[in-house]
Amino acid sequence: MFQDMSQSQTSDIHLWSDPQTGLQAVIAIHDTSRGPALGGCRFFPYNSSGDAIRDAIRLAQGMSDKAALAGIEQGGGKAVIMAPRDIQNQEALFLSFGRFVHSLGGRYITAMDVGTTTADMETIARVTPHVTCTSASGNPALYTALGVYHGILACLKACKDLPDSLNGVHVAVQGLGHVGYALCDLLHKDGAKLTVCDLDPEKSALCQKNFGATVVAAKEILSVDCDIFSPCGLGGVIGTSVAQSLKCRAVAGSANNQLATPEAGLALHRQNILCAPDFLINAGGLIHASLSHRGKTAAETRKRVTLIEQTILRPFNRQITSGEPPSLMADRMAEDILYSPKHQLEQLSA
Ligand code: NAD
Repeated sequence: MFQDMSQSQTSDIHLWSDPQTGLQAVIAIHDTSRGPALGGCRFFPYNSSGDAIRDAIRLAQGMSDKAALAGIEQGGGKAVIMAPRDIQNQEALFLSFGRFVHSLGGRYITAMDVGTTTADMETIARVTPHVTCTSASGNPALYTALGVYHGILACLKACKDLPDSLNGVHVAVQGLGHVGYALCDLLHKDGAKLTVCDLDPEKSALCQKNFGATVVAAKEILSVDCDIFSPCGLGGVIGTSVAQSLKCRAVAGSANNQLATPEAGLALHRQNILCAPDFLINAGGLIHASLSHRGKTAAETRKRVTLIEQTILRPFNRQITSGEPPSLMADRMAEDILYSPKHQLEQLSA
């Protein structure tokens, strides 16, 4: 564990075990020098406490990078709950988790993630103010979709062979959940041509009806000849062989860890396919979680989310001069912000 912490430069890890509710949870705090650590609470049936701790460390580091590049005054943290086989009382479990979060005195702010819901956040909010994504703060997926939309606009600007506006641009969207559906809505309003798929045929049918989208089977979306491929389902969809067979000019979607391996990013680069780094393009939900927790209005949040377009253009433009893939450059840009001498000086004087 200490080796994982030092390799990832994770600041601290907290463990909580509550036999009364069955709660076993981990909170990893990667960095708080830019502000309190913010990151979702994942509820997942981990095989071992080691797996849970490693996941919390990995995810917390990703949140630091995401917050740094989104320019929000927030550090990186993440909580994971080892989902019990048999939950006796979900409410009691999340109240106990809320007390765990509260015990850290605001160093970590929790939010929704895989396996947790707005209702769980409401439960947590009964025992601590250090929580966001409650029903009062609104749906983060709409802001994630808005960020992806602006990421796609950045792709159009960077690919000189694509039009400047979305009118007539062909976007293939994989996954029509909270983010994918809202993204299709925004793209359709701008006149984009949509090809879509989801494992749930009802979601595809809704996009066909509301946005005139062409529906394809899930396995066919990766071979659609299009301008932009937008993965908005699960992560890991682009391995090296998929990267070599995609027929698009750019990849720009919300899915976390959409590149299965760093080599897949290199393969896209060799194919001359621009790839918007996932933790840049899907930061809208995090920006929303942070700003709504700070009492900012929806209009202020939307304004900040639109800046994702400029943020993504930075690695795209650097790619033109350095020839390096944006996926590698974005990691370095985050490191530059987090570990720059200026930043470390601020940390010491904080
Ligand atoms: P969601 O669960 O609401 O929707 C995901 C959709 O993808 C589902 O409808 C599912 O059926 C579909 N899907 C999964 N695998 C698929 C496949 N192989 N082919 C076709 N469809 C498939 O999730 P969401 O909130 O819309 O998030 C989508 C992605 O974006 C996830 O990877 C998530 O981690 C990431 N993300 C979401 C947010 C947010 O604010 N919700 C923020 C950052 C990142």
